[in-house]
Amino acid sequence: MQSKMYFYGGAGSVTGSNFMLDTGGRKILVDCGLFQGEHALDESNWEPFKFDPKEVSVLINTHAHIDHIGRIPKLVRDGYTGKIISTEATKALAEPMLYDALELNRHEAQKHGKEPLYDEKDIEKALSQWEGIPYHEEHDLGDGITFQFYNSGHILGSAMAKFSRDGRSIVFTGDLGGGNSPLLPLAEEPQGVQYLVMESVYGDKKREDDTNRRERLEDIIEDTIARKGTLLIPAFSTERTQDLLFEIRTLMLEKKVPSVPVYLDSPLADKITEAYMRYPTYFNEDIEKRIEGGEHVFDFPELHFVRDVEESKNIYKKGEPRIILAGSGMSNGGRVIGHEQVILSDEQSTLLIVGYQAAGSLGRKLAEGMKKVTIHAETVQVRAKVATMYGYSAHMDGEQLLEFVNKMDDTLEEVFVVMGEPASAGFLVQRIRDYLGTKAISPEVGAVATIEL
Ligand SMILES: [Zn+2]
Repeated sequence: MQSKMYFYGGAGSVTGSNFMLDTGGRKILVDCGLFQGEHALDESNWEPFKFDPKEVSVLINTHAHIDHIGRIPKLVRDGYTGKIISTEATKALAEPMLYDALELNRHEAQKHGKEPLYDEKDIEKALSQWEGIPYHEEHDLGDGITFQFYNSGHILGSAMAKFSRDGRSIVFTGDLGGGNSPLLPLAEEPQGVQYLVMESVYGDKKREDDTNRRERLEDIIEDTIARKGTLLIPAFSTERTQDLLFEIRTLMLEKKVPSVPVYLDSPLADKITEAYMRYPTYFNEDIEKRIEGGEHVFDFPELHFVRDVEESKNIYKKGEPRIILAGSGMSNGGRVIGHEQVILSDEQSTLLIVGYQAAGSLGRKLAEGMKKVTIHAETVQVRAKVATMYGYSAHMDGEQLLEFVNKMDDTLEEVFVVMGEPASAGFLVQRIRDYLGTKAISPEVGAVATIEL
């Protein structure tokens, strides 16, 4: 049998994940994410879908990051009435993520003189079509296709989607975790796979040695406290915030760092953290046991949840030093920008960048060492220390991605490298060809491929 693969988004770029597997009798959509770049909401999100949403048979969603779910309510608004299937934890996380994205959506739409992509009703409708299922459970999608989720170790509930027909399979990796989370189990390695559609965010990067990452975090905290400054950490509300809360909590409980106030200035992260606590079985064994034993692994006496913007401004009236975690993780929106406006010009303070920064984002400029940046039309001189630390990265690095492919190589026939900037995807493609001798390409957005499935 033959199927067709359509690369509608997340090809030639990291964000906007959106693929279709057309098996002849079924049009299976995998992910429907937002495009993000210089702005948290790129203009291209307003373009109509390149397929008819009414003709989609089912939508399979790999995980709750907004670049994988952010256009789902638009899909529903444009006529999609079928099922949306993800893991149970992904469904729980998607709800606060989508409502939060709506705020941003309204703001950006106004700025561009456009209508918002969707409204509350579209989110409600999407959630009513949404079904959460556990990992490994096999589902019949019709047309001879079965499907199941495997753990991808990237964020809570994140999954790879494997589709099979007549003993042949294709796996969409979604995003792959590199085993850096203190909370999550390792990514699984599905076997008997002929085709792989895989991410490549860090396809051309080698992660720093992270064996001492908790000690490095400890050093950065101690250094900032000694200078009586603010440690500001832009953090994605999902996974990175929980990883960091867990680590800072551990350091403070073990008295490895002085007790100073820690502010979580992200109402979304607050809700996501609550949702995390409801799905203990999705964590690694140690954390699962601790949560089931009644331990709140993200809460500690120094932690303050900042509810509104007023409270956010009051943080600075209370005397230093302090630690602030705020979104967005790439400094292209959210409350972190207000804090950057305050602390970047302060030489006692530290900005700690812990995750991927999209090209064009303020976070990327700061990570690359820019000394003068513009925030809310105001020029800010960067005098604060800017530290980067990718030891908590939620993605596999180039070596791990290659090893991941290597472990499936016996049966693999072709690898489609996606969800990476062109240099990164291209580098990984070359290495898969050179080291493993396996056919690999990085399709452009809009590309179509024929596969034997
Ligand atoms: Zn992700």
